Amino acid sequence: MTTDYDSQREWAFQTQLVRGATERSQFMETSEAIYLTSGYVYKTAEEAEQSFKGDIERYVYSRFRNPTVNMFERRLALIEGAEECRAMASGMAAVFAALACQLSTSDRLVASRALFGSCQYICAELLPRFGIVTEFVDGTDLAQWKKALATPAKAVFVETPSNPGLEMIDLKAVCSLAHAAGAVVVVDNVFATPILQKPLTLGADVVVYSATKHIDGQGRCLGGAVLASNQFITDKLTPFMRHTGPSLSPFNAWVLLKGLETLDLRVRRHCENALLIARALEKNKALSRVAYPLLESHPQYQLARTQMTGGGSIIALEVAGGKEAAFRFLNKLKLIDISNNLGDAKSLICHSATTTHQRLTPEQRAEVGITDGFIRLSVGLEDPNDLLADLSQALA
Ligand SMILES: *Cc1c(COP(=O)(O)O)cnc(C)c1O
Repeated sequence: MTTDYDSQREWAFQTQLVRGATERSQFMETSEAIYLTSGYVYKTAEEAEQSFKGDIERYVYSRFRNPTVNMFERRLALIEGAEECRAMASGMAAVFAALACQLSTSDRLVASRALFGSCQYICAELLPRFGIVTEFVDGTDLAQWKKALATPAKAVFVETPSNPGLEMIDLKAVCSLAHAAGAVVVVDNVFATPILQKPLTLGADVVVYSATKHIDGQGRCLGGAVLASNQFITDKLTPFMRHTGPSLSPFNAWVLLKGLETLDLRVRRHCENALLIARALEKNKALSRVAYPLLESHPQYQLARTQMTGGGSIIALEVAGGKEAAFRFLNKLKLIDISNNLGDAKSLICHSATTTHQRLTPEQRAEVGITDGFIRLSVGLEDPNDLLADLSQALA
């Protein structure tokens, strides 16, 4: 592993994004090598024995570690300011591993209600099957957090901003309540990206990513990551990973390493385009609601300004006229694609109630603001004027 890794912590994060944790092979390649190997060989049987005992540190099997995956993990850890990172096959593998590795029967989990569909499933249905008790709160209401965390809890799970409603959690306040209740705080930071929000500096213990989104950002592969202290990774996550195998493929790790090189540039442009489009759409009479963290009209605008350095790429819209009007709008778009992915160079749009949040009951959707006219727009890297022209003609 790179000998100068610790000194790379001093680099500005733009430098870390491009060069952090790079390990050149004897061929001195410019671009990171792809070690597409499942296993590793030992010179002697003794070396194999010592490796399994942990007496020598080396690669043993790619379910545990792999050199290309390791470069991605260490580079992401540098950017996040985390001691350790473990990459996963997808964002959902990361969310599940971050919770399942630390929870046991009868443990309490307190989560914000506004979650991505699959995160909601893990908290509301899957973990309770193993005797974990989940309590949901309105994440924007500190009184509800205080009440729920007046009783000891093992973990807190939040998404901020939330998918798709863009609700924000006051991380500093919730982390201090959570720690007083004995809970480990896990933050799904997908919408904010490693560029716009640093949950660990606000008190969070564990950060999870779907690297599928902005980290790849070009629609090519799935990936995920969990970042935390050395102790959490060593004691909780590593044994869980080793024996359950949600490991990231070395090829995907390489794609994601390339994604990190341009992440800062792309996220900044995503933010500029999204703010410009959100401001323009706010004036469109065909829309009953436009939400974006950095619009002054967002109910948590002040929190967004203090907690994030940009508003992100997602805009939440609501058309007057429910599902029928929403479908008509989506079907009239010529440039923007109907797709449930997000954080991509291409602008993508989807009707949340019939796609990502279809599994919820209408009452559950109403609680998190997903009405039949609700639409999630992921603003890409195209020229914003072309995007606005497309949105305007489809709303006309
Ligand atoms: C997409 C997403 C996930 C899941 O990531 P995958 O890579 O698709 O498994 C988790 N959380 C949030 C907030 C997401 O947007």
